[in-house]
Amino acid sequence: MNLIFGPAGNEELFYNSGFKSTVYSAKYITKMGLFAFEYPFTHGIRLSDETAMKIGEAFSQERIRLSIHAPYYINIASPNPEIVEKSEKYLIRSLQMGKLMNADRIIFHPGSSKKEDRKVLLDRSIAFLKNFIDNNIEIIGGIKLCPETHGKKISIGDIDEILRMCKVYPDIFLPTIDFAHIYAVNGGQLNNEDDFTRIFEKLNYKELHIHFSQIEFNDKGEIRHRSLNSGFGPPIDAFLSSLITNHIKARVIVETPGTQSKDAKILLDRYLELEGKNGKSL
Ligand SMILES: [Zn+2]
Repeated sequence: MNLIFGPAGNEELFYNSGFKSTVYSAKYITKMGLFAFEYPFTHGIRLSDETAMKIGEAFSQERIRLSIHAPYYINIASPNPEIVEKSEKYLIRSLQMGKLMNADRIIFHPGSSKKEDRKVLLDRSIAFLKNFIDNNIEIIGGIKLCPETHGKKISIGDIDEILRMCKVYPDIFLPTIDFAHIYAVNGGQLNNEDDFTRIFEKLNYKELHIHFSQIEFNDKGEIRHRSLNSGFGPPIDAFLSSLITNHIKARVIVETPGTQSKDAKILLDRYLELEGKNGKSL
């Protein structure tokens, strides 16, 4: 299968079913037919090495691909050297945890800086990444670093900026394309298959890391992620059809708060339906 689906973190039903640790997530999502999971270190890295290894083992046993979302505090575009230094530490710590957990991708948001020109932010981010790779190549090992497209206009990380960052070391970086974010910062201009295809053509990557959910937004960008099929965009069928038509290989992570596994399953089921249709028409 070109596409695998999974949640970012554990959904509410996981905890309501009596599970307390992510060690049990692998079996939980396997039962749903999902093959990916993104571990959220978004609000900090508070996991013992021992638990990290247990989680890694459980996911490997179920053959689920594990990615890690690095902390939101990372800001490699900041003019403040202290923040940049901390960002480097968070990335290194994420990589170390990634190794313990058998994760193969680290997702991070490049960051923002008020009142500075985007070009300055981008140059600073690229300089950081070059340095980071040169100094930490051994820790990186085979793990891919995946900068994510921004959800707020003020942050750096539109598609062109993410592409520029990824080109620093094409073997190490892989774009994370968050379609909810793209939809939000473009004021909802992501409505049909062609809109998605234009993005895939511009990216020109055979394989991608993708975040998909539906989202509420205002003129500054994202407000909050929403459950699938609750009246928000971007549209599911246009997204999946474009992935199928363009033969994109991707791991699709759903970030809906509370129902992320259920929603990943909705995407998977719809993907299989559309692919079936596509196969028949060929
Ligand atoms: Zn993110």
